[in-house]
Amino acid sequence: MSEALRDAWGRSITYLRISLTDRCDFRCVYCMGEEMRFLPRRELLSYEEIVTVVRSLVAVGLRKVRLTGGEPLLRRDIVDLVRALAALPGLHELALTTNGSHLAELARPLWEAGLHSINISLDSLQPERFHALTRTGRLADVQAGIFAAAALPFQRRRLNAVILRGRNDDEIVDLAEFAQAQGFDMAYIEEMPLGQIAEHDRALQQVASDTVLARLEQAWGPLQPLHWSSGGPARYFQRPGSAHRIGLISPHSHNFCDACNRVRLTAEGRLLLCLGQEDALDLRQVLRSEGEAAILPALRLALQRKPAGHGFNLEQPVQLQRYMNMTGG
Ligand code: SAM
Ligand code: SF4
Repeated sequence: MSEALRDAWGRSITYLRISLTDRCDFRCVYCMGEEMRFLPRRELLSYEEIVTVVRSLVAVGLRKVRLTGGEPLLRRDIVDLVRALAALPGLHELALTTNGSHLAELARPLWEAGLHSINISLDSLQPERFHALTRTGRLADVQAGIFAAAALPFQRRRLNAVILRGRNDDEIVDLAEFAQAQGFDMAYIEEMPLGQIAEHDRALQQVASDTVLARLEQAWGPLQPLHWSSGGPARYFQRPGSAHRIGLISPHSHNFCDACNRVRLTAEGRLLLCLGQEDALDLRQVLRSEGEAAILPALRLALQRKPAGHGFNLEQPVQLQRYMNMTGG
C-alpha cells in the first residue's frame, strides 16, 4: 500500500461518508427547511464515479464507508452500488444511514449485496409526533423497515435519534427500550447548526448528551462506559447485563475533533474536509477533467487544509448555509 492519507495535524483518514443524493422524502425539522430546492440529477456523481473514488482511497488505507444523504434509498442504483463497493478488497466496513421509509422492501437486497451495518433514524415512537418531526413521515413505514433489518444478520444495527427539548426528550428511555427489544444499539445525537431552519431555536432546544445519560441512568441505574468505538464519533455505554450499546454523539458537549478520521463526499462530488466548515475539494471536477490518477494527489494536498475542529457555536447566527442532507450526516 502506498503512503496512508494523513492531514496536517497527523490524523489518518480511514473513513468516508458519501451523500448519495440531497433529496429526501422527509423534511425533518432539524435537518431541512420545508421548501427545499434539490440538485438536478445530472449534477450527482454517478455510481461508477463513486466506486472509482472509493477504490482509489481504499488503496491508501480507507477502511470504512457510510452511504447516507439525503435519503440514500431514493437512489435507484443503490443495491448495485452496494454490491460494487462491497466487492472492493480492503474495505472492512460498508455502512448505511437511512430514514427507513423504503427499508421494508430494500433491507434484504441490501444485505444480500454485501451491506455490513445499518443505522436507522427514529426520533419518536408516537405516530403523530413522528409525523410532526419529519413533516411527512409515517412511523408505521419506518417501523416496518426496522423489523425487516432486525430479521437479517447485519454485523451492526443502530437507531439514531436527535433529541430536542420539549419535542421528544420525554422518549429517551422508550427509544432505548424499543431499540434493545429489536436488537439494535441506540445513539442520541446533539443537534448541529447546519443550515437555516425556521421552526425552532437550536440553542434553546439543545439537549446535552449528559442529560440523556442522566435520564437513562435514572431509569436503569449506572451505565458502563465502553472502550469500544465503531470508528465514528459516538462514545458508547452499556446497561449491565445487556448486549446492546448506547451511543452518545456530542459535537457540542464532548468535542470529538481530535480523533477525527473522516471526510465527506457530497452528492455532487465536493469532498468536504470538515462537517462544520465550508472548505472542500471539487473531486468531481478533478475526476472528470483529469481522471482517476489525479484523485489521490489532489486529495493529499487538500487534506493539508483540514481544520483542527468544527467550530460550532450555538450562540452565534448560523455559520453554515449547507444543510445536513447536503453534508452527508
Ligand atoms: N436520511 C437519512 C437519515 O435520516 O437517517 C440519512 C441522512 S441524515 C442527514 C443522517 C443523520 O443526520 C440522521 O440520523 C439525522 O437525524 C441526522 N441529522 C440531520 N440533521 C441534523 C442536525 N442538524 N444535527 C444533528 N443531526 C442531524
Ligand atoms: Fe431526510 Fe434524513 Fe434529513 Fe430527515 S434527517 S430530512 S430523513 S435527510
